[in-house]
Order: sequence, then C-alpha cells, then structure tokens
Amino acid sequence: MLIVCDFDGTITTHDCLNLIVQDFAAEAWAEIEPRLRAGEIDLLQAIEEEFLHVRLTEEQVVRHVLKGTEVRAGFHEFVTWTEDVGHELVIVSAGFRVLIDAVLATAGLSRLRVFSGDACFTPQGTTIQYPPSAQECASRCGMCKADAVREVVAASVAPSPLVHVGDGLSDLCVARTADIVFARAGLARLLQREHIQFYPFEDFFEVRRVLEALTPI
Ligand SMILES: [Mg+2]
Ligand SMILES: [Zn+2]
Repeated sequence: MLIVCDFDGTITTHDCLNLIVQDFAAEAWAEIEPRLRAGEIDLLQAIEEEFLHVRLTEEQVVRHVLKGTEVRAGFHEFVTWTEDVGHELVIVSAGFRVLIDAVLATAGLSRLRVFSGDACFTPQGTTIQYPPSAQECASRCGMCKADAVREVVAASVAPSPLVHVGDGLSDLCVARTADIVFARAGLARLLQREHIQFYPFEDFFEVRRVLEALTPI
C-alpha cells in the first residue's frame, strides 16, 4: 500500500500552524479564520495572510511548536509496522518543512519522506513557499497533496492501493481520490458532506488495526 499521511493534527496532536498563529498573531487569527470558514478566501490565502503577522525568529517558533505538540499515540509503532510489512509511507503536508523536520527529529523519525511547503521566519514577518502545483487545485491547498501523490505513484514500480490519513481542508483533494481514507476533525466533517466513506481515527493503533484487517498477511 501507499500510505499518504498528513502532518499537522494528524501525525501531531496539535496543528503547528494554528498553534503559532493563535498564540503569536491572535488578532489575525480572529479576523482571517472566519473568512476561510465562510469560503471568502482559500487555505493558501489564509496561511499567507496569517503568517505575515507572525514576527519571530525560526528558533522561537520551533521552540514553541515543540512545547505545544507531540506525535500522536501509536505513530512510532505505525511507522515500524509499515517498514516491517513493506508499505510505503509518505508525509504530505500543507505546513512547513522547518517545523516538520524539528518535530520528526525530536521523535527520532527523521527518516520519513516528506512533501511540504516551507516558511522563512523573521522578526519582520513570515514568508511562505510552496512547490508549484502541476494542476490548479480546486481547494488551493498550497502544497497540493493530490499532485504529490501523482509524483510518488509515477515513480513507483507497481500501482498500489492508496490510503490517506488526514484531519483538515488540505486533505480533501487527495482524500477524494484515495481507495481507503482515515479522517478525524474537520476532514471527517467535509467527507460526510460529500458522502465519501472513511474510517474515523484518534490514534495510529486504530489505523493499523483497520489496515491489517483489510489486508490479512
Ligand atoms: Mg492537518
Ligand atoms: Zn490539491
């Protein structure tokens, strides 16, 4: 199987981007999040605007993130299991490489393959970068996850069932194309609205149990 896993709020217990904006740019959060929820702006615009107001060094931001979140229960064991069984696990995130690397390094999981955006933090404000999307993504998810998955699939020898694990708006475009979806929080609500079937999860022990039951070895 090819297992595509979101990072913020999926692998981590808290969304790193939300943690930063809520704590360091609360006014921008209060102003921009309602516009995102109402569909006036898309995810990419919301992230760009919010982070203009985050005025900190990279060191300060990383320290805050490591204090505020950790890897979700069962994720370590899940990674080991995918390696033992031979499933390909890829992290695809609309978040920032600099934060993902710090969390994974702290958890001893730097070996995982990551597709994501990145951010340059300065005391004057934060600028963000995403790889260009090959196609115009309807959800403008920044780092288009469906695009990243196409890249991984194109490079793999044999087509394998696509599993997606996620929790938010940026997961929607790839969840629509996945064979098996695990969802929590906002993604679960979005999928319910579109009548797309998914397995709810709160930890990675559950994800593994379902996948093992689906593919007896
Ligand atoms: Mg997420
Ligand atoms: Zn997309």
